[in-house]
Amino acid sequence: MKVNFLDLKRQYISIKDEVDDAIQKVLLSSAFTSGPYVKEFEQNFAAIHHAKYCIAVNSGTAALHATLMVLNIQSGDEVIVPANTFFATPEAVSLCGATPVFLDCDPMDYNIDVHKIESAINKNTKAIIPVHLYGQPARMDDILSVAKKHNLMVIEDCAQAHLAQYKDHFVGTLGLCGCFSFYPGKNLGAYGEGGAILTNDEMLFQNLLKFRNHGTSQKYHHEFTGHNYRMTGIQGAILNVKLKYLNTWTDQRRKNASLYRQLLSDCHGIVLPNENANSKHVYHLFVIRTKQRDALMKYLREHKIITGLHYPIPCHLQKAYQFLSKQQKICPVSERYAKEILSLPMSEQLQIKEIEYVIETIKEFYRG
Ligand SMILES: *Cc1c(COP(=O)(O)O)cnc(C)c1O
Repeated sequence: MKVNFLDLKRQYISIKDEVDDAIQKVLLSSAFTSGPYVKEFEQNFAAIHHAKYCIAVNSGTAALHATLMVLNIQSGDEVIVPANTFFATPEAVSLCGATPVFLDCDPMDYNIDVHKIESAINKNTKAIIPVHLYGQPARMDDILSVAKKHNLMVIEDCAQAHLAQYKDHFVGTLGLCGCFSFYPGKNLGAYGEGGAILTNDEMLFQNLLKFRNHGTSQKYHHEFTGHNYRMTGIQGAILNVKLKYLNTWTDQRRKNASLYRQLLSDCHGIVLPNENANSKHVYHLFVIRTKQRDALMKYLREHKIITGLHYPIPCHLQKAYQFLSKQQKICPVSERYAKEILSLPMSEQLQIKEIEYVIETIKEFYRG
């Protein structure tokens, strides 16, 4: 048996007729960029989250960058980010000319360590970007209260956490806004690139609408310099089809995670992901830890099981950030975990027999 990390073709086949129809409609109406299909997706995506506004853009990185730009984050400002995240999170801060301040991860849930936030705040700090990493909501109560105390903006990076919930609220609606990615491998993936911002703040909404379209609300009248961050019509139409399945797919990911958890519970070589109380983890990734990570990864690959590393190098150790001082990047937990983490195959398409084969093979490895 071969187990892919992710099987996007299998998902497409399961909804092929609907998707093909939706693409045809866009082509026949020439609604190639922005337009009615994107608008419909924005309305549906906002509604499913009980959010007031949604602005669709052309990637998760664009969502983060546009947000920070319209919030006037600029040179001299500092923005607190986790070290353990995809590079796009600090990258968006740097693109505005501001400085990302890296915080270590919580040893239990791999998200930003909320106990370290307050000591990282100074007069230049403007915002915090918690990332709901792997699909598990960050500890938003603590983050929101420290942000309120110091008058900081909270921008949620929800790229891995579509429909994840923190105390009955969807992520993306807890802070000032939430930035989503629809990269094909994400829990809700386009067939290309895509992203969106959710917010309840009307001013932010209006400014984001302009920013994604060259600073205009009226054609050829540019109020400020923005960007071309518009979503294409085909992606909007495809996302509209896929959004209907997102609840079911999320439940299936959670079922797959509980089967992994159940079958791996007696395997002593590995640490299973922890699920925080009062929150709903949506398992973008199922990440285990083991001291024998590289050997296990190799063994699984030899048995045709493809795993991943999220992420092999924490952001603060990337070459792009070598200019930051050593004190600006003390993240020992993230550094240790980067050598121990392993992402097992995970998607809503994963079959029970595939999960069983993955588990059997892992157990075989530890039996030696
Ligand atoms: C995927 C991802 C992004 C970037 O999204 P793109 O759509 O690939 O630009 C940002 N943050 C996190 C945590 C991500 O996983």
